[in-house]
Amino acid sequence: MNRAGRDGHTDWCGRDHRCGLGEHRSDEIVVDVAGRARAVLVRVRTNSGREYAEVRVRVALAPGEMAARRQLVGLLGDLRHTVTRAAIAARPRPGRAGR
Ligand SMILES: [Zn+2]
Repeated sequence: MNRAGRDGHTDWCGRDHRCGLGEHRSDEIVVDVAGRARAVLVRVRTNSGREYAEVRVRVALAPGEMAARRQLVGLLGDLRHTVTRAAIAARPRPGRAGR
């Protein structure tokens, strides 16, 4: 885990208006796929010291309603898998201090 620098921020904190309310927040990291999909990731550290990744995803949907709904079902399944995998990786391990 990164320690706070001399100015009290982490070395990745965006400072300014992004940092406040007990959280350090990084600049946005954008992944853009040619107008079809976009993800924005922000690294966050709360005042308890726990760190998180906040991710906002925007995906172009198919023009037909049924195709769009199938796409949404697939997207939700993929997100469930991603969130579950991340939660398992972040769980405390025996012998390590809880965070
Ligand atoms: Zn900060």
